[in-house]
Amino acid sequence: MAAQTDTLIGASPVGWAMSTSRAPEALPDAGVGPFPFSLRSDELRERVLSLIASAERELDHLLDPAGTKTIQAFLDPLNRLLARVQNVSFHANLMFHAHPDPSVRTTGRETSEAAERFLNAVRTNERVYRGLLELPMGSEDPATRFAVTKMLREMRRAGVELDPAGRARVLELSNQIDSTSNEFAENIANSIRFIELGSASDLDGMPADYIAAHPPGKNGRIRITVDYPDLLPILTFCNSAEVRRLLFREAMNRAYPENVPVVERLLRLRAELARLLGYPNFAAYAIEDKMLKNPEAVHALLDRAETLLRPRADREFARQLERKRRDDPRAERLGGWDLRFMTPGYYEQKLVEEELGDTTGGLREYLPYGRVRDGLFRLCEELFELTITPAVDAEVWHPSVEAYEVHSGKKWVGRFYLDLVPRDGKYTHNATYPVRIGVEGIALPQAALLCNFLDPRAPLDSARLQHGDVVTFFHEFGHLLHNLFSGHGRWLYNTWLTLEWDFIEVPSQLFEEWARDPAVLARFAQRPDTGERPPPAMLERLREADKFGRSGYWLVLLAWSLAALELYERDPSSLDIPAVMRSSFARYSPIPYEPDYHLETCWPHLPGYSAYVYTYLWSMILARDILRPFQERGSLIDPEVSHRYMTEVLAPGSSRPAADLFRTFVGRDFSYDAFEQWIRGGG
Ligand SMILES: [Zn+2]
Repeated sequence: MAAQTDTLIGASPVGWAMSTSRAPEALPDAGVGPFPFSLRSDELRERVLSLIASAERELDHLLDPAGTKTIQAFLDPLNRLLARVQNVSFHANLMFHAHPDPSVRTTGRETSEAAERFLNAVRTNERVYRGLLELPMGSEDPATRFAVTKMLREMRRAGVELDPAGRARVLELSNQIDSTSNEFAENIANSIRFIELGSASDLDGMPADYIAAHPPGKNGRIRITVDYPDLLPILTFCNSAEVRRLLFREAMNRAYPENVPVVERLLRLRAELARLLGYPNFAAYAIEDKMLKNPEAVHALLDRAETLLRPRADREFARQLERKRRDDPRAERLGGWDLRFMTPGYYEQKLVEEELGDTTGGLREYLPYGRVRDGLFRLCEELFELTITPAVDAEVWHPSVEAYEVHSGKKWVGRFYLDLVPRDGKYTHNATYPVRIGVEGIALPQAALLCNFLDPRAPLDSARLQHGDVVTFFHEFGHLLHNLFSGHGRWLYNTWLTLEWDFIEVPSQLFEEWARDPAVLARFAQRPDTGERPPPAMLERLREADKFGRSGYWLVLLAWSLAALELYERDPSSLDIPAVMRSSFARYSPIPYEPDYHLETCWPHLPGYSAYVYTYLWSMILARDILRPFQERGSLIDPEVSHRYMTEVLAPGSSRPAADLFRTFVGRDFSYDAFEQWIRGGG
């Protein structure tokens, strides 16, 4: 998520990192005061609506024709106003996705839509547009000029240059799209799906802590839900193909059939929006301001990636099918429940165990959440010269949520929240949510991980993680660091928010590599009961194990990328959504898209990333290249390189084009070589 910031403007890129001898400052307007998480539903509505009303009055005042249009008199107040409403929207959106009280969730949704309606209206406001065009930009620094250029482009893309009727329709469509996307998310969060098993023998192969956490219920049956702490270990370890098959089918049907009309409406609204704005389809609109610029470049990328991935993936799938036939001689093909899905697939895991010895399965014992979290914090402190401490006075929205503050020397970097346990009505996937976007003098950056990898039945600190969960944790923390480091600049339009979103997965996918590094894992992996450390050979084997299903995993990702692209390229009036899902998977994946799957109703990226799900592939290609300077030093724990990465890639946010950030750090234009080498089994 997405889930998902710049320090460069008018200051040294490491300006915020300089320490002073003073005591730590209080958190300057972190937004905690005016908007506590404990607000009741009616209080939240009242606060948000009155803030939006005051923003409307300020905007009116700012747009007074007699007012001078200078950076100080126009851009500064506009920036402040937009950042404030953006932060209200983020706060309300967080409450919508995370608050335990359903009435606060509903109000969170309504008020985040109200804030977005204000922001959408500003984007189509001709007077704001003219004011920006009148700004004297000649002597301004490049980051300021770039911010204004992006504001103007965003307004053109929001229809500000259309006639009044066109503008009004675009505004109406934008608001309907926001509301439809929220309806889609709400239906997923409220969809509870599970299977029930007759006896513990159905859990053959599962880790002991998992079996202990799943005793039979009052009806004598064992309930297994599609929440990740239930689902993912089953897909990796459960010896019963039938249990895996049934549970995976439930996971592929979350919010079905409720979301069928919702997703159809979403695609129709977006197609109309794109046509009104002069684009052939929504994919062309959505990709225009990304690094790849148009759908043709994305199709070419997918073709190129397929050429690289196909031969190796076919061999991997053939080996897994061969292994499956040892269990079931009549097996004709692999199923979705046999393959990697965020964590290693069942046959991938079996082959690894049989050929390399125990790796990921055994490692689970050594990965209690508390040790992983603390290990991650100490690592970040070392890599980026930070201190991460519990925010003892911070308010949280649920007792299982943890709050931390981050300093560099005596300077605030920001605050973050970890909300990692699934619960009813909460967002169901893993994502980084902005809580406050950081803009100098307005708010310090705050972000939250809304993830679902901790078993609610286990005490927080001792809940076991699979290695795949550790990778997810590091991935989301990569987004979080990007949020925090880039939240110290002057302009909202220089933050990570307005970065090209096909670069947005670079910091997260890059940081996954630290979770796969034996030297990093050896720092914190430890059994809490005996104090025993994992055998070094087990950690070393992880890299080899990861290669087992790598090409196949990325080939299947091409199917997801193509499906998202085609759903937004085709004319929705004649679109058969399940047919596009089936044809995209048939094109790339060795397994058919089963007729009783409805991924399109529970795929959070469909409203979110829309046509650019390919960001995972493209960002990974860039991330493998960005990893090179670390690899050349022979260790991922090299504060000099990581500090340079922070100041040259993360902290600048979107004060410059993403390609420039890349070039500054790597010292050349991107190349496919590092990704290709990695797919071929290299480091
Ligand atoms: Zn991500």
